[in-house]
Amino acid sequence: MKCRICDGEIFFLFSINNEPLTDDFLTLEGIGKEFLGKIEIGMC
Ligand SMILES: [Zn+2]
Repeated sequence: MKCRICDGEIFFLFSINNEPLTDDFLTLEGIGKEFLGKIEIGMC
């Protein structure tokens, strides 16, 4: 797997399940209604 920024090899990769994925600020009513998804984080 290659880094999308520098094109170097990813030497360490981990993932987090059910991470809230949002660009919006959360309101009090919105807490708990975020879209949850799996994210992968790699280090090059
Ligand atoms: Zn990189």
